[in-house]
Amino acid sequence: MATDPTLSSEEIQFRDAVRAFVEKEITPNATRWDMEERYPQELFQKLGELGWLGAAFPEEVGGSGGGSVLYALLCAELARGSAAIALGLYVHTALASAAILHLGNDEQKQRYLPDALAGKTIGCWGYAEAGAGADISCVATRAVKDGNAYVLNGAKLYITNSPFADFMVIVAATAPEDGLKGMSLFLVERDMKGVSVSAPFKKLGMGASEMAEIVFDDCRVPECNLLGPEGFGFLQALKVLTLGRIASAAFGVGLGQAALAESVAYTTSRMQGGKPVSSHQFVRFTLADMSTKLEAAWQLTLHAARIADAGQPHDKEASMAKLFATETATGVCERALHLCGAQGYMRESNAQRFYRDCKVLELGEGTSEIQRETIARLLGV
Ligand SMILES: Cc1cc2nc3c(=O)[nH]c(=O)nc-3n(C[C@H](O)[C@H](O)[C@H](O)COP(=O)(O)OP(=O)(O)OC[C@H]3O[C@@H](n4cnc5c(N)ncnc54)[C@H](O)[C@@H]3O)c2cc1C
Repeated sequence: MATDPTLSSEEIQFRDAVRAFVEKEITPNATRWDMEERYPQELFQKLGELGWLGAAFPEEVGGSGGGSVLYALLCAELARGSAAIALGLYVHTALASAAILHLGNDEQKQRYLPDALAGKTIGCWGYAEAGAGADISCVATRAVKDGNAYVLNGAKLYITNSPFADFMVIVAATAPEDGLKGMSLFLVERDMKGVSVSAPFKKLGMGASEMAEIVFDDCRVPECNLLGPEGFGFLQALKVLTLGRIASAAFGVGLGQAALAESVAYTTSRMQGGKPVSSHQFVRFTLADMSTKLEAAWQLTLHAARIADAGQPHDKEASMAKLFATETATGVCERALHLCGAQGYMRESNAQRFYRDCKVLELGEGTSEIQRETIARLLGV
């Protein structure tokens, strides 16, 4: 067990257990899953049985009673093996399931969360649309009240897990004239009439994660599936779903650490002129910079997670961690590919996979620009 003075013994034990699982079950398969562009859905049930899907959820709803620190450790370790696997897990837990935990009533929590946290059902989070991305006020999917149901029409684009999700947390406008204050959240089930999901999209990276478009065509959602208050559900979700930003930061760190490890392994074993390329000052300094930035990113992530677990406001810290860690991951993965030379550029190498996977972390969960806007606003600027 590796010691770490910034972590408790329980946290180290948890991290080491996840690390061992990842090294056995995920790392050896990551390249194959990436090439096959297939999410191994059976992993959800395995992670559920281990109690890890519920790492940040209370026991009353089937969780393990942990918090943001354990969840960050989980995401970082999974991302070391495969960022795409971590992405599918994070969408299911930190977005879809966390929205139900924070905004759902008791009946909704009991109906959805125990199965979701056991990995028996899988969730997705549908916000993005053709016209709504970084600007969150442009959602065009409509939900119109009709008797004891809401009728949904519209389409959600780029939705991770949607090709196999059982339940969907969908953002739709109930009062479009009120902008952000007229958007509500709905729990939609895959087999409801009027829901259709496209074939999975081809992407640059995150090959093993699956995403598609969801179309709603006069889909009647019972009013008991409204999540949170009508008109304010999405606004409230934006305020409470900080776990996603901490998770994205942790991803960045885990992915960056994997890229660093790959670079160290290659440069210390690659011989040129009778000595390893790691003997060159350029290589040594590059590795040192990568490691230093990753350590800073992890400390920001841990700091945000600790404040969250203490129940203190942590909006700014979560945005800072997300911004810094994901931009660091992009830089570190680019340097890793550079250091691994032509071998790293080959399709079966880990370095090129990391390089393709990293960029989306800066785009999802609020782009870097949106994080900067949030931080500046919280500075009172
Ligand atoms: C692999 C992957 C998985 C995804 N999974 C999901 C998912 O599960 N659920 C989901 O809802 N969405 C998902 N998305 C979509 C994601 O939410 C969007 O990519 C994200 O919201 C950014 O929107 P956009 O891509 O439309 O960028 P755009 O909004 O078109 O932005 C383009 C550029 O302009 C900048 N920009 C835009 N507005 C501003 C502004 N006001 N100030 C400064 N800069 C600005 C952005 O920062 C960005 O650099 C996924 C995307 C990818 C690539």
